[in-house]
Amino acid sequence: MTNKLIKQWIRPEIQALSAYHVPDPGNMIKLDAMENPYTWPQQMITEWQALLQDTALNRYPDPGSRSLQQQIRTAFAIPDGMSVMLGNGSDEIIQIIAMAVAAKDRVILAPEPGFVMYNMIARFVGMQYVGVPLHADDFSLDMAAMKAAITEHKPAIIFLAYPNNPTGNMFAREQVEEILTLAPGLVVLDEAYAAFADDSFMSNLGQYPNLLVMRTVSKMGLAGLRLGYLAGPADILQEFDKIRLPYNINVLTQVSAEFALRHKDVLDQQTDLIRQERSRLYAQLMSIKGLTVYPSEANFILIRVSDGRANALFEALKSGGVLIKNLANAGGLLQDCLRVTVGKPEENDKFIEIVNGF
Ligand code: PMP
Repeated sequence: MTNKLIKQWIRPEIQALSAYHVPDPGNMIKLDAMENPYTWPQQMITEWQALLQDTALNRYPDPGSRSLQQQIRTAFAIPDGMSVMLGNGSDEIIQIIAMAVAAKDRVILAPEPGFVMYNMIARFVGMQYVGVPLHADDFSLDMAAMKAAITEHKPAIIFLAYPNNPTGNMFAREQVEEILTLAPGLVVLDEAYAAFADDSFMSNLGQYPNLLVMRTVSKMGLAGLRLGYLAGPADILQEFDKIRLPYNINVLTQVSAEFALRHKDVLDQQTDLIRQERSRLYAQLMSIKGLTVYPSEANFILIRVSDGRANALFEALKSGGVLIKNLANAGGLLQDCLRVTVGKPEENDKFIEIVNGF
């Protein structure tokens, strides 16, 4: 029997959603969620634990995370004159931006396949979502389709993940610039994977009145802290900041992120290792028959498995103790696709061994 309360009160579009499913990895090698696989040197862990011991949990955190914000400005070269807003993961920032513009006839637009949260959050806040298909062969922007969709839907927000998840490629810079010029609303460059890429729009902030740059520390080794940041013009961020819940960055995250960023060289070294491993993994995958391997500027690689065998390969990996992301049934352009996060050398070796023997 359906619960009458749900039928009567939960919005139909929420009832129609399926919850974001995160599988339990158990003891498997975890190559499904774009995490950095490395931990810290023991000395660093000891210092961090000492800091935590001195952190008061009975007090609210600094609501503006001022000290952390200042450190982020320096560590990530936020241009002078631009403001910064922190979120409980960049997921929360997407939600704050959406809440600030939400109205039921307004549109959030993003290329597809793309990061699923843009679509989900549009629904959470009661907005329309429009996904514009990328070119099927190389996942580049279909500019004719993008322009037509911008003209038709006049999106309040366009999200462009740069590099894109789950495809791993960067869109052409000139095309992104064209979109910035054409868009009637805000354009959020989602640079979640900036640490693994060679280009960024951070230094272009201020050149376009509608440009915002969003990043996260998740992929550079701090996924557990839940910390994202948005950089952009002060007057726009001031509006968003009214919606941000006052203590959204908890005290353990503030203390730990500040500590980690004081040791950013360690995180950067880990990122370098991941980039090297990405090249090795890419070359090895390229040598395996029956796979199409897409070039990546992120910490994961998208592959397409021929002969409808993607689900079977995913299961074979699981049985062999390796968890990756199965996109084979996601529909659209991702038919027969799997996404693997770049892990430690030995983890990638295990993955390759199973794929090779499949
Ligand atoms: N943007 C993109 C493109 C992502 O892939 C992700 C994580 N998968 C996020 C944002 C969210 O990151 P977080 O909430 O961990 O900061």
